[in-house]
Amino acid sequence: MVLRDTFARPLRNLRLSVTDRCNLRCEYCMPEDDYVWLPREDVLHFEETSALVDVFLSLGVDKVRLTGGEPLLRRDVPALVRMLSAKQGLKDLALTTNGVLLADQIDALKAAGLGRITVSLDTLRPDRFRTLTRFDQLEAVHAGIASAHRVYGTLKLDTVVIRGVNDDELVDLIEYGRTVNGEVRFIEYMDVGGASRWSPDRVVSRREMLEVLTRRYGPIAPIVPGTNVSSAPAKQFSLSDGTVFGIIASTTEPFCRSCDRSRLTADGMWYLCLYATRGLDLRAPLRQGASVDALKDLVSGGWAARDDRGAEARLALGPQRAFVPVQDLLRKDPHLEMHTRGG
Ligand code: SAM
Ligand code: SF4
Ligand code: SF4
Repeated sequence: MVLRDTFARPLRNLRLSVTDRCNLRCEYCMPEDDYVWLPREDVLHFEETSALVDVFLSLGVDKVRLTGGEPLLRRDVPALVRMLSAKQGLKDLALTTNGVLLADQIDALKAAGLGRITVSLDTLRPDRFRTLTRFDQLEAVHAGIASAHRVYGTLKLDTVVIRGVNDDELVDLIEYGRTVNGEVRFIEYMDVGGASRWSPDRVVSRREMLEVLTRRYGPIAPIVPGTNVSSAPAKQFSLSDGTVFGIIASTTEPFCRSCDRSRLTADGMWYLCLYATRGLDLRAPLRQGASVDALKDLVSGGWAARDDRGAEARLALGPQRAFVPVQDLLRKDPHLEMHTRGG
């Protein structure tokens, strides 16, 4: 069964945040000194998460990505992976991590059935890494990436490109990606909850990135997607030697019209858009003993009414920054943070 929203977009992709905590403090995501954390008792147990995933699978979801916060900070993530990978109908089970704890867990994750890994890596320079994340952990990230290369043979490397911060490292990152068989994906800096230091002049557009890379590598060919990957946000490109990389132009060329993703926070709030200011509470009905059918009705009703096009609306506003009073709202509701709802 394919459930469609008001723009006929199917429900296919679920990003599952397993914790709002993180062991880094990236300046574009968690720049503040203090955060309000989700109350521990509200965080779903793995059995509860698994039950909600069953509901989503029955309504058409076939791709799940574990994220956070830093997902590997949650105790025994491989146990959750084992529960999810055993489910019929789940075609793609992936993880996005900052890589710091990956080397220690990679074998258990693979054995549990995790399909794919994406590691976020914004810089190759230790001093920059420290400034950007407030922690001296670049070596641990490299070890994590090496372990993913060893165990999976391939991985994706996600880089948020910020003008004046790391926009001079595009070529270095592609060269590094080649050494670990990693497909680098450059992400435009987004004005989302948590990004309190965002400003339009810090965004490096896809067009600019392609210009820089063309100067170094010569002509770059876009890869035409196959029919079933059209909802993937990254546009892929190929260098003349066959090296593939991607650019996610979420700020300057948003892809809302084909967006099939939604997000479930660690405490069971379901968000239909990265920019949505309100989510649907699935934890309360689950804990009150709602039947599977009642939960399915909630989710299908929510999706059928979905009309979100957050990034397009944000783009239409132009450079002014008053889309939602994000920073004021953040103080009241941690769910609006990128690290709570998952990137
Ligand atoms: N901690 C994990 C990590 O960093 O990979 C998973 C969660 S993190 C919120 C998921 C992704 O969101 C990361 O790749 C991160 O770079 C990206 N992200 C966070 N804030 C962003 C922003 N303001 N603009 C673009 N991407 C952002
Ligand atoms: Fe950085 Fe990810 Fe942590 Fe955000 S959640 S601060 S992007 S490592
Ligand atoms: Fe999807 Fe919202 Fe992102 Fe647009 S802004 S791509 S609708 S999550």
